Amino acid sequence: MKDRFIPVTSVASGTEQPVAADIHCLPIQVVNVCFVGDLNHPKDWVLVDAGMPKSADDIISAAEDLYGERAAPKAIILTHGHFDHVGAVEKLVDYWEVPVYAHELEMPYLTGKKDYPEPDTSVDGGMVAKMSRIFPNEGIDLGEHVHPLPTDGTIPYMSEWKWLHTPGHTEGHVSLFREKDRSLIVGDAFVTVKQEYLFKVLTQQQELSGPPRYLTTDWKAAWDSIAKLESLHPKVAVTGHGLPMAGAQLNEELAILNQEFDKIAIPEEGKFVDQEKN
Ligand SMILES: [Zn+2]
Ligand SMILES: [Zn+2]
Repeated sequence: MKDRFIPVTSVASGTEQPVAADIHCLPIQVVNVCFVGDLNHPKDWVLVDAGMPKSADDIISAAEDLYGERAAPKAIILTHGHFDHVGAVEKLVDYWEVPVYAHELEMPYLTGKKDYPEPDTSVDGGMVAKMSRIFPNEGIDLGEHVHPLPTDGTIPYMSEWKWLHTPGHTEGHVSLFREKDRSLIVGDAFVTVKQEYLFKVLTQQQELSGPPRYLTTDWKAAWDSIAKLESLHPKVAVTGHGLPMAGAQLNEELAILNQEFDKIAIPEEGKFVDQEKN
């Protein structure tokens, strides 16, 4: 189940997209992984998130394209533990022998103690929401390879970056922010494609939207997280799904999402939706 291949690939899949001089984003089918670190320092970079199941070879070869043969990161940082963000992590940890870091509250899902709730296939909107019934929701077990992020907001091996707790999509969801150029690695707190709609996912039509609906369990927390991210005024945002967004478009769409989160993001009905919508 965990290794089930999801037969959906976006137009951009497999092509690295430079975001900043030291942030490269690789779309793996429908999800992004990020390589963060100066290309001139091939021993000093990290991988953020670990893609879809069976994508380890693609991630390794992209890493070698960027940083040279046998280049291994210092660590893997996870925004959260959903299957499409940890798909290759067990293989990558074996191959690179590097530590993995995630938020304390995400640890039970990464150490085999807890499974995520089953996706909500009833949320209004789209084929991917319907398909989400075949998405694995089981936690994985990284054992002693996974560690909680330091509580002071720092990120191991990412000295200029801080993590922010952005729960809602999952309990221990984090986003990563670098003040000096206001770069934001969002995870799934918001995305730039309507992830529920297959056509939009395939073409990566750009449109800021809330976290993927079928897997988001706490909409109030998700809204608070958007307010937190908007207040950072990011200049560029790399999201877990969709193409990176920057500049005025990002600021305008993020402000609208924050103001109208109940209309734009929260589904009309669904098993994780309760009174806060009405
Ligand atoms: Zn997710
Ligand atoms: Zn995701």
